Amino acid sequence: MGFGIRVYTFRHGDIVPVDASTVREVLAPYAPYDVPEGEPVAWVRTADGSEADVYLDHGVSFDRPGRGVLDLVAEVARRTGAAVLLLGNPATAIVTSEEDRRHLPEDLREGAVVVLPAALTGKVIEQVVRPQPEPRFRPMLPPFPYHPDPVATGSVIAADETCVCCGHDQGWIHTGPVYGADVPDGRVCPYCIAFGTAAKRYGAYFNDVEARRMPDEAARRIRERTPGFATWQDWGWPAHCGDGGVFLGAAGAKELRPYPDALDHLRGLCAEWGWGPAQTEDFVAALDKEGAPTAYLFRCRACGTHFAQADFT
Ligand SMILES: [Zn+2]
Ligand SMILES: [Zn+2]
Repeated sequence: MGFGIRVYTFRHGDIVPVDASTVREVLAPYAPYDVPEGEPVAWVRTADGSEADVYLDHGVSFDRPGRGVLDLVAEVARRTGAAVLLLGNPATAIVTSEEDRRHLPEDLREGAVVVLPAALTGKVIEQVVRPQPEPRFRPMLPPFPYHPDPVATGSVIAADETCVCCGHDQGWIHTGPVYGADVPDGRVCPYCIAFGTAAKRYGAYFNDVEARRMPDEAARRIRERTPGFATWQDWGWPAHCGDGGVFLGAAGAKELRPYPDALDHLRGLCAEWGWGPAQTEDFVAALDKEGAPTAYLFRCRACGTHFAQADFT
């Protein structure tokens, strides 16, 4: 952290010498060398490996303190009742009472932050030095009945990115595959998928659907208005009870364990490919959420059964 911090006690706007023995008491355990008797601590290192040069004059200066050293700064301030000055333009002071604020030099008084002694920690100092921006508000995603949580599956991510279709930064962007001859470069927002805008404008589609496995309406919705997801191999969106399945996410052997119905379904698929039990079990055990072969977990919209599709490599 490229900044300096000073710990000073003020009375009526003037600096009052800090209690050097208290400062030494706090800092000496963190000096990575033998501090000569009667001398102030000149260098500290904390358990997280952060260090700072320390100078004692009327107050204590810490030169470029790391995160762990900020806890020591806080402790010196708590124990001596001194103010923490964050050098910068303008400088900011942290004091532990309203009364201490009134003792600050006039130019520091108004912008000073009052933190109760018990709450004064390195983390609080860090917050004052570099406040974390408020997380951006992101609107609700549109409903996707066949892919209800595209954020959980990774097909939609929070992003400050302009949608290539609507030209707006909606706070979300689609990361899955987009197919079609006239698809522009760049990613689309989930709203342009849900409302069919990207499909209408570019003839874009996001998923392959096998013909005649489900009603046309469902097939169209999955193809044109449902976020896609990457697979290692091409296979059509599976159906159950005459409707498209609800995609719950990629899965490995571990993720499939709570879904014996999906595992049975997968074993059934293996049998259809003419695999014996040993080959099937090896395959199921090797399934990996991140790398091939991967399984893809679905749930039936009608009967609730879980089932799985997989890449067979
Ligand atoms: Zn858009
Ligand atoms: Zn079903």
